[in-house]
Amino acid sequence: MVTRRDLLKSAGLGALALGFSSQPVFAAGEKIVKMEALMPPPKGNRVVVCGGGWAGLTVAKYLKRENPNIDVVLIEQRPNFFSCPISNPWLANLVNLDFISYDYNQPAAKYGYRFVNDRIIAIERDRRRVYTTKGYIEYNYLVLAPGIRYNYAPWFGDNQELIRYTKLNYPPAYIPGSEHLALKRKIWEFEEGDFVITVPPGAYRCPPAPYERACMVAEVFKRNKVKGRVIILDPKDDIAPKGPGFRMAYEQVYLGIVEVVTKASIKEIDPMKKVIKTTAGDFKFADANIIPPQQAGELVWMADLIAKDKEGKPTGWADQDPLTFQAKADPNVFLLGDVISPALGVAYPKSGHHANSQGKIVAKIIASRIAGKEIKPGSLMPENVCYSMVNGSPQEAIVISVNYEYNEKENKITPRARTINDRSEALAKSTYEWARAMYRDMFS
Ligand SMILES: Cc1cc2nc3c(=O)[nH]c(=O)nc-3n(C[C@H](O)[C@H](O)[C@H](O)COP(=O)(O)OP(=O)(O)OC[C@H]3O[C@@H](n4cnc5c(N)ncnc54)[C@H](O)[C@@H]3O)c2cc1C
Repeated sequence: MVTRRDLLKSAGLGALALGFSSQPVFAAGEKIVKMEALMPPPKGNRVVVCGGGWAGLTVAKYLKRENPNIDVVLIEQRPNFFSCPISNPWLANLVNLDFISYDYNQPAAKYGYRFVNDRIIAIERDRRRVYTTKGYIEYNYLVLAPGIRYNYAPWFGDNQELIRYTKLNYPPAYIPGSEHLALKRKIWEFEEGDFVITVPPGAYRCPPAPYERACMVAEVFKRNKVKGRVIILDPKDDIAPKGPGFRMAYEQVYLGIVEVVTKASIKEIDPMKKVIKTTAGDFKFADANIIPPQQAGELVWMADLIAKDKEGKPTGWADQDPLTFQAKADPNVFLLGDVISPALGVAYPKSGHHANSQGKIVAKIIASRIAGKEIKPGSLMPENVCYSMVNGSPQEAIVISVNYEYNEKENKITPRARTINDRSEALAKSTYEWARAMYRDMFS
């Protein structure tokens, strides 16, 4: 049940509560009893897709492709789309902003789904309603694809002051928006000293991204002839994935500029004094890109669909079937993209390519179900391809691609990975071809 307090808290409305509830929105018992509907109830089958990122955009388009009669509503809080993939080359000015930003109206108009540009503040699964700040929308099927949220608690507990300070002064730039602009400015204005990048512990969005980012920051330092080093603090025993490819780039292209410190689990951060204490020693920095631990985005928590561990504690990631992406607790809800939990012996990567591939599968599953047919779980499997730019002059990249096979007898998923660690200009060209194809798939 969604309560008045939950709604206001998740809306971030606090002091604005009176203005928001000028109509009688809530009953005394705190259950929502009245809020205007944003659109009439569905006449046929309505799928509400929450989150217009890589997963949400794909599922919305492909649902309409599968069956134009499905009423598809995509709700996204941002006015425009900014791509995290290729944002690292953009930091080094290898591409311009136009290459990685897109509008939401064009695909909605072209593919025929409705686009609602608003923030989702509550989900009531028992009444099959999604609440935005302007009203509610009813659904038959719900797709939650909110991406990730930052989780600073392992470092700062509940010290909101410290969390706010760190996020503001050392923006992670792991969720698209102004953090990326702030990070770019920092890098280009950096004068001298150590620039630290922290690799988050546990599962996080795009595992190779911090290592690629280190190359692109080093590229800027090299071009600007800055007396600076990029220090990567990595809690893992070694760089992964594409470890040998990144190491070769650090040793051959950015020697003396990039340094990786492995087994460096963060014990303490003092963002004011600019010191990070780790299991591999203490590091003083001139500036930093502090990327924190991560969890499934807020909407999965709102919908109460987070997986629990054996002790009943939240794992932080969504509780879905890894073959159908259906929520275990609710057959009308699908959980897609970076929110996904590791399951059946495989940790699916939290990548845009994988999210796009999941979106196509889920569109088929929902459309088939609406048509009264079931797709056999495991007959459609996702895939992943991930390029990393490791040199800016000349532009060179490395790549990993992974296919997944499902063994029904053993109820196990096996990944089959292929990595090219030898960087090349041909792979840099393929990087941009891949990105163009993905943007085309979602937007034009
Ligand atoms: C630096 C970096 C580089 C990367 N490089 C690559 C790469 O080369 N290749 C690759 O495949 N992947 C890459 N990724 C990973 C990729 O960006 C993610 O895996 C992908 O964005 C996941 O898609 P998603 O749909 O799950 O989440 P997102 O794309 O984050 O979309 C989630 C959407 O939900 C919206 N949302 C959340 N809450 C609400 C709410 N309450 N109301 C309304 N809307 C809401 C958000 O605004 C957002 O637009 C990279 C990531 C980073 C950070």
